[in-house]
Amino acid sequence: MKSPKKFLSINFGCRVNAAETNQWSQTFIDQGYSPTNSNPDIIFINTCAITKKGEKESLNKIKILRQKYPTSKIFVSGCANLDKIKDLDNVSVFKNDQKEKILKELQSSYTRHIKDKFSHTNRFLLKIQSGCSQFCSYCIVPFKRPKLFSLSIEKAVNTVKKAVENNYQEIIITGVNLDQYQYGFSKLIKNLLEKTDIKLISFGSIPINCIDQNFINLFKNKDYQNRLSHFLHIPIQSGSDKILKLMNRPYDSKKIIETFNKLKSLPSSREVPPSKTRRGVGFGTDIIVGFPTESEKDFQDTLKLCQKIGFTKIHVFKYSPRPNTKARIIFENSPKISKETLKDRSNKIKLSELKN
Ligand code: SF4
Repeated sequence: MKSPKKFLSINFGCRVNAAETNQWSQTFIDQGYSPTNSNPDIIFINTCAITKKGEKESLNKIKILRQKYPTSKIFVSGCANLDKIKDLDNVSVFKNDQKEKILKELQSSYTRHIKDKFSHTNRFLLKIQSGCSQFCSYCIVPFKRPKLFSLSIEKAVNTVKKAVENNYQEIIITGVNLDQYQYGFSKLIKNLLEKTDIKLISFGSIPINCIDQNFINLFKNKDYQNRLSHFLHIPIQSGSDKILKLMNRPYDSKKIIETFNKLKSLPSSREVPPSKTRRGVGFGTDIIVGFPTESEKDFQDTLKLCQKIGFTKIHVFKYSPRPNTKARIIFENSPKISKETLKDRSNKIKLSELKN
């Protein structure tokens, strides 16, 4: 008897990639393939290039799997420089725009068969947006995902209804740059709360400009506040206005402080377990240390801002120049910040995390 066809999907990077990897996996399942960890007929690898290290890991994985499974058909996509593996046999490359075109009509087909590192059986990754044209000066993503895409509110509502039918309890809203979600971020969340029975809406990473008064009002609404995650990951990257400007981030430290003050004044969730005393909303963020020209004062501005806000989770990244980015081009010959200083700044930011 012929053995059933099997596939292996491997994801690198962010939740958007994970959501897309899940959609690819679903297409394999729909074609009669089953997931496996060994001897797959098909392998799908979704790569990442946000850091040099991430890109290297993705490309190495492709080479390792090519060697390990010489007869498997390999499909690769994602943000890594895939020209580097074009000489490998039997490897098909899908650029991000081709991939997104294929996936565009598959938004509703993600089912609970698929697990990834961001989800478990009760959580559904809902990709509502892709692409970025913000061109933060350090970031490679706008070169890799230039095409903007937003899922319509109607499709998002229908997808979540389907997820609820499949017993999902929670959705995680994700996108490359949710600030560029074209149908109104707060409006979408309100519609999901009003028109679906999803128990909890969580967020991947929310740009600070998405947090408008309408968004804050949803947390004040007694009918909704228990259905919204009270942990928000809001990447601020720096607390120095000079550095934020050089990074081309679309806000300044005043905006950061104002927004977090509003969020901090929100009421506590009514269902916080008594053993866990928690403020109204908990916060996480991303910080880049060692951006070119970051002085001790710039760093101290960032550190003080982190201490003032009180993040419970901080992802600290040491600046790494990425190909074609403005920061890399402009600061190519500027003095480098020493490794010791980078390490020290990283540690200090990490130490500013609030302990529960
Ligand atoms: S908003 Fe900035 S950091 Fe985020 S993907 Fe776009 S360019 Fe990169």
